[in-house]
Amino acid sequence: CGIVGYVGRPKSLEVLLGGLRRLEYRGYDSAGVAIITEDGDLVTRKRAGKLAVLIDDLAAEALTDGSTGIGHTRWATHGGPTDVNAHPHLSRDGKLALIHNGIIENFAELKAELLADGYAFESETDTEVAAKLLGREYESGGGLAAALGRVVVRLEGAFTLLALHKDEPLVVVGARRNSPLVIGLGEGENFLGSDVAAFVEHTQRAVAIGQDQIVTITPDTVTVTDFFGTEVQPTEFQVSWDA
Ligand code: GLU
Repeated sequence: CGIVGYVGRPKSLEVLLGGLRRLEYRGYDSAGVAIITEDGDLVTRKRAGKLAVLIDDLAAEALTDGSTGIGHTRWATHGGPTDVNAHPHLSRDGKLALIHNGIIENFAELKAELLADGYAFESETDTEVAAKLLGREYESGGGLAAALGRVVVRLEGAFTLLALHKDEPLVVVGARRNSPLVIGLGEGENFLGSDVAAFVEHTQRAVAIGQDQIVTITPDTVTVTDFFGTEVQPTEFQVSWDA
């Protein structure tokens, strides 16, 4: 239901949890984060319940912070509100994490294809299908954004997706169809959010992402393309809210 992405300085956990807190007003039943640590490991933590449950969990057993991360609050549509069904979901090799807002209408047929290909699933979500598909596509090469393009053209329904991969440690990619996603522009850091509330305390410079577009953020660059990789020139706007 709420989405935050960050790349920049080694404080992603603070940015993600702050963003998720500002998105709480939308309602949710679970929360989770994935971070690429300074050592290059991909770590995730996710819990059913309020953000406070996740924060208590992180207080009990700290996660090593990093400069790249994604955070999610879930409003369950496929699979009950459990720790396992909470996002992020991982690729089979565990190198890639993905979060999703919305519904992938054709997930059953995609899941059947993956099961026939020998894939196993941990959760009951439509989302895990996108995570496994993206992991498989990544292995075909071309990088994370190109792999995401090859996956989203196969998805039906409504989605905002964010993903990161430990082999591209300073990159967060996103895609959207029938579901919102906005970029926040910083200095040496960039943000993604399902709405500007996710990052408004850090920057008031925002960029709208159009329907059926893909975004790639690094600490110093923002690239927006259509699903087929053709670059588009997005429109910057000023967020007028007070942080
Ligand atoms: N359909 C996904 C799920 O049930 C995402 C729900 C959401 O938008 O939070 O896990």
